Amino acid sequence: MKAPWLHHGAFFFAGILFDPLEENLAMGKLLDGQIALVTGSSSGIGAAIAIALGEAGAKVVVNHHSDKSLNGAEEVLEKIKAAGSDGFIRQCDISKEEEVRAMFAEIFSRYGTVDIVVANAGIQQDASLLDMTLEQWNKVISTNLTGQFLCAREAAREFKRRGVVEGRSRAAGKIICMSSVHEVIPWSGHVNYAASKGGVKLLMQSMAQELAPYKIRVNSLAPGAIKTRINEDAWDTPEDEKKLLELIPYGRVGVPEDVAKAAVWLASDESDYVTGTTLFVDGGMTLYPGFADNG
Ligand code: NAD
Repeated sequence: MKAPWLHHGAFFFAGILFDPLEENLAMGKLLDGQIALVTGSSSGIGAAIAIALGEAGAKVVVNHHSDKSLNGAEEVLEKIKAAGSDGFIRQCDISKEEEVRAMFAEIFSRYGTVDIVVANAGIQQDASLLDMTLEQWNKVISTNLTGQFLCAREAAREFKRRGVVEGRSRAAGKIICMSSVHEVIPWSGHVNYAASKGGVKLLMQSMAQELAPYKIRVNSLAPGAIKTRINEDAWDTPEDEKKLLELIPYGRVGVPEDVAKAAVWLASDESDYVTGTTLFVDGGMTLYPGFADNG
């Protein structure tokens, strides 16, 4: 007799729950033998993704930006090792072409190749349009959009060169772009950020279209409000959090692990037929909650 809440494949026998999917995840089988790079993974969502990929069996290159972020990167690598996997730390400003090329060259010299690239690094530099400087505009676009282009291009070149490796993954490679609900929701006071994420949407889709014939999958994750330092101002007092919750039908602010679980799925063969898609991880923020009782 199967309980209705059990997912496919799980069953009770002699009062004991047998769950092949959980066992598979616990044994780190989903991404066994694969190499992953996660940019900006010394903190926040990137850190959670790097750890989750490591727990799923991948070796993980933990990219961080500057000396200040080294400690965070070390903690992340420790957790990956504690989960029984491995990796290394690599400093790189992903908005700089030469630095990105050098980072990939080191990955190839240490591991031979790469299978999964999560282009996660991103920043906000907020100002009203009227006050925004060209420097603020360029800084956000070069990190959030150009940085993703540079990392995705290096990854795609390697995936195409190497092709599918029998027994490792059904795809020749997986690129996961970090977008945001602001790829569809306009955001006054943040035109640089919203433009960068709107750009990521069509960058991702156009890359997916071009690369699918090479068996390369490209998708985006679009988080809503996730508790990290990038948006601390929006949730760090109970009043702020209450106001933020008005935008989230599901009734809680997200945590980095919510996004990390989706990243593992997108990186694995469990999502082998998924490409060119944005997966919103937002507790319903893009459901226009203001229209629920007004309109
Ligand atoms: P975070 O500030 O903790 O993480 C951003 C990371 O990017 C940091 O580790 C930072 O050092 C790194 N970084 C910045 N510039 C870099 C550069 N030039 N080179 C390399 N690394 C660089 O914040 P987060 O919330 O974890 O953000 C991660 C991603 O998620 C970003 O792309 C952000 O836009 C996106 N996102 C976050 C939220 C949220 O609610 N937190 C929502 C939607 C999208």
